[in-house]
Amino acid sequence: MTAGCECGQVTVGLLNIMDALTAGSALIAVQLCVAVIMAGTFYTLPEEKCTRYWAQSGALVGLGVLVIIINAGAPNYPLLIIGNNTLIAGLICQWWGLQAFHGRNPGRLGWVVLGAYFLLYGLLLLVKADIADRSALSAAASALIFILNFHELWMRGTLRVSFASALATGALVLLIGGFTFRAVASVLHDAAYLATTTSAAGVIVVYFLPLVGTLLFSVALMLLYFERLVQTKHHIATHDELTGLLNRRAIICLGEREIDLALRTREPLSVAYIDVDHFKQINDELGHENGDAVLVELAQVLTDTCRSTDLIGRYGGEEFCIVFPGIGLEGVEILGTRLLNAVRAHRFCGRLAVTISIGFAVLPADGERRPWKDLINAADSALYRAKKTGRDGFRIASEAALDESSAGEASHLHTSG
Ligand code: GH3
Ligand code: MG
Ligand code: MG
Repeated sequence: MTAGCECGQVTVGLLNIMDALTAGSALIAVQLCVAVIMAGTFYTLPEEKCTRYWAQSGALVGLGVLVIIINAGAPNYPLLIIGNNTLIAGLICQWWGLQAFHGRNPGRLGWVVLGAYFLLYGLLLLVKADIADRSALSAAASALIFILNFHELWMRGTLRVSFASALATGALVLLIGGFTFRAVASVLHDAAYLATTTSAAGVIVVYFLPLVGTLLFSVALMLLYFERLVQTKHHIATHDELTGLLNRRAIICLGEREIDLALRTREPLSVAYIDVDHFKQINDELGHENGDAVLVELAQVLTDTCRSTDLIGRYGGEEFCIVFPGIGLEGVEILGTRLLNAVRAHRFCGRLAVTISIGFAVLPADGERRPWKDLINAADSALYRAKKTGRDGFRIASEAALDESSAGEASHLHTSG
């Protein structure tokens, strides 16, 4: 049932865990199911090439094992070559799918591995090498392909902490370990680990581990795929397409959460509402596309100036919003100047000087909860005053302004530069 097996009826004695036919049929069923599921997924989302490779892989592995099983009674050379090479091609397809999953074009290495396997397998048949040598070659080729899969997951950072990646890691460790062990045992001509094995340990290594490993690995790939779909969907739902910052909905939601946290931990919290000065003019003079580029660069300047714990979002057109956990009135004064200076110092589109105006609102330390709406309204009023008094500056909403959203007189002007 596994790469390179030449199945004979296996008697496992007392344990009777599994015979070649059972294991092979189970693997065919699993791989054909994977092929159907992946083909259906590819049909739904044809731009995702990985599912096409995984569908082809399932079909090829299933077909390869089928040929091997049919050929088990009285092996004939052409069928041996077809069965084993189809199976190895299926495993390579799975690896190609993983590369496509990471947005990479499968290179030539897969063809080199397949070509080398084809030639070596043919050579072994030519010199009438026995089943142990052919088994060693097939097991080594399978181990190599699973190592390439592991390398692919490792290099692309896909082996993060998640159920799917833990499953993929476990399955690959199982497969690499099992096939390497089997390759070494075959080289040593240990009959206990050949396809004709009658020992319980042999049945576990030759049939059981590859069956469980390939099943788990196929499921892990499906889960990785769906995990990423969910992550992408979540990212699209919470991030602004142009700047990559949090979108309005996400910043409101996370802002409310930060307010709760600040109250619970008795830490200060501030909110900044930022608007680009004379942005209409920038659009008019440089065009909408350059206007967009200015917004993207401004998002980067804000991100570079803030800490990683600050929440930065695009609130609307050319308006941004930042939540500063742990920052109170004194911190806001420093931050305001720092943000203004960072934007002033940057040359947008390589040449353009742009300024911003900022309105700050600080969560009062009286332990009373203020909703996001009150904080942002107060910050907006402060921003309005910064605009009215010359732009390129910041204002901080007073506590009173927070409680009466229209009150702005108590805020004090801070402009610098
Ligand atoms: P002020 O200093 O008073 O803020 O002047 P302003 O010209 O910036 O005025 P306002 O804030 O009202 O201008 C918003 C402009 O931003 C109008 C709109 O055309 C432009 N805008 C909004 N969203 C986008 C966008 O996604 N891309 C581009 N390029 N422009 C946008
Ligand atoms: Mg505006
Ligand atoms: Mg503006």
